[in-house]
Amino acid sequence: KAFPSGKKDLKSTVKFADVAGLEQAKAEVVEFVDFLKSPGKYEKLGARVPKGGLFVGPPGTGKTLLAKAVAGEADCPFYSMSGSDFVEMYVGVGASRVRDLFKQARDSAPSIIFIDEIDAIGRKRGKGGFTGGNDERESTLNQMLVEMDGFNSSTGVVVLAGTNRVDILDNALLRPGRFDRQIAIDRPDMAEREKIYMVHLKPLTLETGLKQEDVAKRMAALTPGFAGADIANVCNEAAIFAARRAATSVSMEDFERATERVIGGLPKNNSLMS
Ligand code: ATP
Repeated sequence: KAFPSGKKDLKSTVKFADVAGLEQAKAEVVEFVDFLKSPGKYEKLGARVPKGGLFVGPPGTGKTLLAKAVAGEADCPFYSMSGSDFVEMYVGVGASRVRDLFKQARDSAPSIIFIDEIDAIGRKRGKGGFTGGNDERESTLNQMLVEMDGFNSSTGVVVLAGTNRVDILDNALLRPGRFDRQIAIDRPDMAEREKIYMVHLKPLTLETGLKQEDVAKRMAALTPGFAGADIANVCNEAAIFAARRAATSVSMEDFERATERVIGGLPKNNSLMS
C-alpha cells in the first residue's frame, strides 16, 4: 500500500507502573482498561462507555505513554497516528487513512487508537471564505467524526487523543459520544519529577556511593519546569557523558552537565518556573 495508515505496535508492554505521577489521570483511564478487558460486561448491562478520551497537556508530559499504558494494561493492540502527518496531504488521502486505521482497529478489537496532536486536524473549522486550503483537513476531520459516530459498546475500540491546545479544537470533537472526556496531564511538580527520575534512573549504572533516591531528589530540585520527556533526556544524556569520558558509571557531574545541555535545547519560551 502506498500510504500505510497509522502505525501498529501490536503489543504495548508499557504498564501503569512505567508512568510516574499522573495519579489522577491514571485513575480516570482505569475505566477504559476495564472496558477493553471485558467489553461484553458493559454491553450486557446496556452501559454506554465513553468512546474517546482527550489528554490535554504540554508536550512531553506522558500523553502517548499513558495511552500505551492503557493498551498494555488491557493487553490489546495499540494503533497510533499523529495529526501532523495529515498536514499537506493530497486530497482524499487523509480521510482514507483514517478509514483504514479505524477498520484495522475494529477488526482486532478490543483495541486502542491514539491520535497525537489532534489539533493539527481537529482545529476549529473556518466560518467563511478566508480560510482557504483547509478542505483536506476538514475531510479528514469529518471522516474521524463519522468513524466515531459509528461506534457503540460492542465495537470495543477506544479512541484516545492528545493535544496541548484544547481551546482551538473544533467543538464537534468535544460533543457527547466523541472526545467527551477530558483528562488533564500537567507538568510534574517536584515530588512527581522525583518519581519520574526514579523510572529513568533505573537502567543507569551509578557511581559507587550514589543512591538512586538521592540523585532523583537532587535532580528533581534542580530541574523545575521539566516535563517527563526532558527528564528521560537528562538521564540518557548523563549516561552518554559518562561514556564519552570512558567511565564505567554515571556521576553527579554527568547529570549536571546533561541538565545544562537539555536546558540549552529547550524552546526559549519554555517557562522553567511554571
Ligand atoms: P507530545 O505532546 O510531545 O507528543 P507526550 O505528552 O505524548 O508528548 P510522551 O511521548 O508520552 O509525551 O513522553 C515522551 C517520553 O518522556 C516518554 O516516552 C517517557 O520516556 C518520558 N515520560 C514522559 N512522562 C513520563 C512520566 N509521567 N513517567 C515516566 N516517563 C515519562
